[in-house]
Amino acid sequence: MRCSVCGRAAVIKLRHANLRLCPEHLVTRVEKEVAGAIRRFRMFSPEERVLVAISGGKDSLALWHILAKLGYQADGLYIDLGIEEYSTRSRQVSEDFARGQGLTLHVLSLKEELGATLDELTRLARGKTCSLCGTVKRYLMNRAAWEGGYQALATGHNLDDEAATLLGNVLRWDEGYLTRQYPVLPGEGKLVRKVKPLVFLSEREMAAYCLITGIRYLYEDCPHAEGARSIVFKGVLNQLEDRYPATKISFLRQFLKVRNRFRPPEPVVLQDCPSCGMPTAADGLCRFCRLKERVSHGTPA
Ligand code: AMP
Ligand code: ZN
Ligand code: ZN
Repeated sequence: MRCSVCGRAAVIKLRHANLRLCPEHLVTRVEKEVAGAIRRFRMFSPEERVLVAISGGKDSLALWHILAKLGYQADGLYIDLGIEEYSTRSRQVSEDFARGQGLTLHVLSLKEELGATLDELTRLARGKTCSLCGTVKRYLMNRAAWEGGYQALATGHNLDDEAATLLGNVLRWDEGYLTRQYPVLPGEGKLVRKVKPLVFLSEREMAAYCLITGIRYLYEDCPHAEGARSIVFKGVLNQLEDRYPATKISFLRQFLKVRNRFRPPEPVVLQDCPSCGMPTAADGLCRFCRLKERVSHGTPA
């Protein structure tokens, strides 16, 4: 198998892009795709400061590495959710990476911010672990970005993540979620702009990128992810992709073309939470502060 670009030995075949690539050209492709997405969707400029949400997995670490390499001002944020050994290991990997690359990593601990780890919170609050996790992560990421004076918050969502989310949204024809599924969501007030520069890169490409560039990442998935809907959707999409290459990329690209045909939800008026000052649609405490109250009373809701 020869590299489609230079003819040397290829190490990866990307059927969806009709490419076979050698290590050097895989790296070039990934970095070009990231630079292209940033430009096309006007995610951020070199003058702006970007906070990269770091999970310790391949996508977020590779994203951070690429942004730094492209000359962007990118710091990292790791949220320690207190998920037993998983959090210990992912925090270690993230801190080692930052130290090795000379990059700045902010670390927030859920236990310190909320008074409970994710596992403790799940026992106290109604709701599923993954949705509570999403709530607290989104809140802490935004607050950290806002307080730190960052103009954009970047996550490592890749093509496989986005296609699976899209499938879930389409199966429910959830117009609100569909209109908000976009590689860049503008900021507003204390809500910082959100960007996903890896949307057009597959999980396999990101894993290969890390392997080739020597990025050490945590291979294991969060223990709570097992059996999650998104994993089932990813499996189905992988089966389709096997039979019909480029299913995922065209699913996402075509969606982005027709997305504005969906009706956006009525804009909600945001108010400042009386406790933390962050924006909330609720009249009164924001969701995070309500969870915090529940934790401090120690009573199940
Ligand atoms: P996930 O929701 O686990 O698929 O992760 C999606 C993205 O969210 C990752 O690529 C990271 O950018 C970010 N992320 C996930 N977990 C954390 C964490 N514990 N701390 C900071 N960012 C995270
Ligand atoms: Zn090549
Ligand atoms: Zn609040």
